[in-house]
Amino acid sequence: LNITAETIQQDVTSKGMCTEETANGCEDSSKAESTTNNRNDDAASQRIVSKIEKTWVKYKSCSAEPQDPKCECHQKVWQKDLEVFQKQSITKQNIKDATKFGTLYKIFNQKLYRTADCFFPARCEGIEYFLLKIAPSLPNMDFVVNTRDYPQVSGRFARDVLPVFSFSKTSDYRDIMYPAWTFWAGGPAIKLFPTGIGRWDIQREKINKAGLEFPWEKKIAKGFFRGSRTSHERDSLVLLSRSNPNLIDAAYTKNQAWKSLKDTLDEEPAQEVSFEYHCQFKYLFNFRGVAASFRFKHLFLCRSLVFHVGNEWLEFFYPALKPWKHYVPLDKNPSQSEIKEIMEFFRRNDDLAKNIAEAGYEFIWHHLRMEDIECYWKHLMTNYSKLLKYEVVEDKSLIEIKEKKSNNQKR
Ligand code: UDP
Repeated sequence: LNITAETIQQDVTSKGMCTEETANGCEDSSKAESTTNNRNDDAASQRIVSKIEKTWVKYKSCSAEPQDPKCECHQKVWQKDLEVFQKQSITKQNIKDATKFGTLYKIFNQKLYRTADCFFPARCEGIEYFLLKIAPSLPNMDFVVNTRDYPQVSGRFARDVLPVFSFSKTSDYRDIMYPAWTFWAGGPAIKLFPTGIGRWDIQREKINKAGLEFPWEKKIAKGFFRGSRTSHERDSLVLLSRSNPNLIDAAYTKNQAWKSLKDTLDEEPAQEVSFEYHCQFKYLFNFRGVAASFRFKHLFLCRSLVFHVGNEWLEFFYPALKPWKHYVPLDKNPSQSEIKEIMEFFRRNDDLAKNIAEAGYEFIWHHLRMEDIECYWKHLMTNYSKLLKYEVVEDKSLIEIKEKKSNNQKR
């Protein structure tokens, strides 16, 4: 997967490949090729080629060893999130104030405790699965976990930043990112997952298998998206799909908040589909929802090319993924013509698309394993605990959290 200037030059002069299934869609793009864009000699295409080339030439692996046993790839994220507390440290009063924004947890004598109430029990379960694994090796500490979607600690106005753990944020927030509950439990409930998308270990295997069943050459050369209208940023893709069904298959599904056709942009909701179904398409789209969307990580496992729209909303593993190396970035709120342009570029440059798709897959497969998530939690909590500037004592009002028997079952 070594892209050099030379291979890029070969790529940009070669024609895009079409599979039988995609004959119609490819006709459109090859028409465009033969009239205006035969060798990507327009300025927009050259800019894309140059960005890919620079990124691939500069890219260095994030871990010294390929298996990344020390989970180095994500370390900078907790280092950055905790930086602010290096200066101000964390007091007992800070923790008390932070409990307005989440659930209070405690590690005491290698055991895990929390307040009896948890706003989203399945989300707490998803978090506790990992905390219980690492509690025996952690020092005493108190911490507050926000299980809502939205971050809580604005960095703009606060003088004293409160220590609140949230799964997702933008650079406007000072929340400490933790690996979302959905790696184990409590993810969004859709028809196919009535109790919520969870068990990343199981999803990894299943989607990976579907990805192998649809190798690149067999994939349909269309963009694909299914999801609800949690953000209007998705509208232009859905509208483009309606006018260009040969280029894109994107439609809104119904979520629990659905009230009328307005919530699916004046059309009947589409059926929900599995992640495995996504794997038959070459180009998969990710958008923010209320915060970061859980969809992102799943899409890579298809070995399809991921188009990631907007770069503001993060989860802990996003910074290690590099635009143009692992996915194709699009500015937030892309217009229909911007989407069309970039898709047509990658249809003409199939080898580049395939290389980026493979690199994205490789990264998620090797660096977002269950052990990477556990390892991230461990580094995060160990280093967080060092910032507490008071003695952590037992609190009899909290309940002890114990491992669920079902957690021992592999699947
Ligand atoms: N989803 C899915 N199949 C569908 C629709 C949605 O697997 O047909 C998944 C989607 O990938 C995401 C979750 O359900 O992980 C919630 O998607 P939605 O668009 O409703 O919300 P988001 O969290 O992306 O804002």
